[in-house]
Amino acid sequence: MFECKRCGSCCKGESTVSLSKVEISRIAKFLNLSESEFLEKYTTKKGNFRIEMKVKKGFCIFFDRKKRLCKIHPVKPEKCKEWPLIPAIFEDEESFKIIQNSCLALKGLNWEQLKFFKNLHK
Ligand code: SF4
Ligand code: SF4
Repeated sequence: MFECKRCGSCCKGESTVSLSKVEISRIAKFLNLSESEFLEKYTTKKGNFRIEMKVKKGFCIFFDRKKRLCKIHPVKPEKCKEWPLIPAIFEDEESFKIIQNSCLALKGLNWEQLKFFKNLHK
């Protein structure tokens, strides 16, 4: 239905997605690191419970700025895999338009087409 244009917008910002225990374990294994090494090198704590990937020069630390790709693509967090088809995009047309404005892959798509896509995946 759509193709990622590698704009990097979903990997950009002052914070990244939070990581679950399963995701921490999976990414650490992929990088051949222990979980504690991975946590130390690549993540940061927000509040008491939230663990996020670090931000480097305005992007998630795993975003390859030259290739415009995710360096941990095969094991990236579920929220990254899900984007831009997060539950909020199907809520109403206004939410769809807000998300559409931050993802080049959705340009040219309209609300009716998105609803059709949702029905196909019910
Ligand atoms: S893990 Fe990959 S897809 Fe997710 S924010 Fe970081 S660079 Fe982007
Ligand atoms: S915002 Fe959309 S087009 Fe840009 S990198 Fe993310 S998924 Fe791809």
